[in-house]
Amino acid sequence: MAFRIPRPKGLTGQIVLALVLGLALGVILNVIVSQPLFTESTQQVDANAGYYVLKDNTPVYDSLEATKPVLTLQQSDSVKLVSGSAQQDRLQIESPDPKLSAEQDYFVQKNSVRQKGFIFHWLQNGILHLIGSIFIASLKLLVVPLVFVSLVCGTASLDDITKLGRIGGKTLALYLFTTSVAITLAMLAAVLIQPGGGLSIATDASFQAKQAPPLVETLINIFPTNPLKSMVEGEMLQIIVFSGLFGVALTLIGDHGQRLLSIFNDLNEAIMKMVMMIMIVAPYGVFCLIAKVFLEQGIDAIIPLGKYFLVVLLVLIVHANLTYLSILRFIGRLNPITFIKKFKSVPMFAFSTASSGATIPITLENVEHKLGVKNSIASFTIPLGATINMDGTAIMQGVATIFISQVYGVDIGIQGMLMVILTATLASVGTAAVPGVGLITLAMVLNQVGLPVEGIGLIIGVDRLLDMARTAVNVTGDAVVSCVVAKSEGALDEDVFDNMESSS
Ligand code: ASP
Repeated sequence: MAFRIPRPKGLTGQIVLALVLGLALGVILNVIVSQPLFTESTQQVDANAGYYVLKDNTPVYDSLEATKPVLTLQQSDSVKLVSGSAQQDRLQIESPDPKLSAEQDYFVQKNSVRQKGFIFHWLQNGILHLIGSIFIASLKLLVVPLVFVSLVCGTASLDDITKLGRIGGKTLALYLFTTSVAITLAMLAAVLIQPGGGLSIATDASFQAKQAPPLVETLINIFPTNPLKSMVEGEMLQIIVFSGLFGVALTLIGDHGQRLLSIFNDLNEAIMKMVMMIMIVAPYGVFCLIAKVFLEQGIDAIIPLGKYFLVVLLVLIVHANLTYLSILRFIGRLNPITFIKKFKSVPMFAFSTASSGATIPITLENVEHKLGVKNSIASFTIPLGATINMDGTAIMQGVATIFISQVYGVDIGIQGMLMVILTATLASVGTAAVPGVGLITLAMVLNQVGLPVEGIGLIIGVDRLLDMARTAVNVTGDAVVSCVVAKSEGALDEDVFDNMESSS
């Protein structure tokens, strides 16, 4: 008898539970590891006590009074305490980095040093890390084969190849349109609410911006010189180009193409089944990822940047509810409530992985099987969207640019704002859909309008949490555009879209 793996029932409920429990556990553990280092009986650093854990992005100074840090350390660089007491603000640590002089003394703020021990070794870097990483890896392992196989099937099943250009044009236009709306909303909100007004915060000056590639390079890079290399390196746009061409070729070689296509269709079924298998264990993965993030970050990092954090969150919510649902209703003539009910588990995956790329298998499965978008459209729009359509990221960049300009007291003017809309919209094209990429492209936007790139150091502390929220919006935008394009091409099965049986 064949072993059947059904689509997991009640998945959304399980993921919500995993999110809530993970968050609660993470916050509780964070409070425990953030307990004061010194008790009544231990008022001095015990230099023999072994290694301690730091908060992520901990600034390191070369004297007790220095205001500018010489580097930042991460949690993974656990350090040894050399001296310090309950009365001091800074504690001396052992020379933490091989690049730095062993002669020099280094200091960190007392509140960046956290208790070491069981929670760090067995939970944070132990079981939570283990299960969370295996979960992400098992999603990622499907991305390249899935996009390749699915896109070959998709393009090969188009009855008319000329449709390809039209579908591509519509998809790109809608992606660019939603992104520019997103960033405009973000800047409007930031100008009105003034999250950076009257604020002066210490900058983590050691933030080093990576240079984003110029636009021409980005365009050339879309075309692979070696498709195997593109696959090995997960270059999504290159894989899309190669798979699309391969699929088109299959339609042009008659019977040979049909024979190969049937193999690709079978492969597609097998990979989709693997997605289903991963979804069954997803709640455990989500629980571990979320617990780890909140254990590492805590929520106290949000407090000094509360206003910035809330403005980004507010615009993300407005964009997801107002822009997307209006597009569905007025351009797609589709019921937005049905969309929400059927799509809701995907943003939760994106939230816990903070990667639109890793979420591609889940988004694609959902858009095809629950929302009824034909494979010929979804196999193209979803991987493309995951790579180039980042509305949530653009929102963070819009708010961050205005926030940084307010903190530094620089008025970028209307012209600067138009420039931000243009650069941030273009910047999202060609950047990888992985955690934290938004900060790299933000450097490009700040450069364009002459704002200091070090400003990124102001917001880096809350970026991991915002990354999760904006990735949820990023993937929602991809699905909305996919549905609208499919509807306009007569490639949306409305019986599937309207069928509420599959909404769990
Ligand atoms: N993590 C985001 C994504 O994968 C990108 C970013 O904003 O950093 O969509």
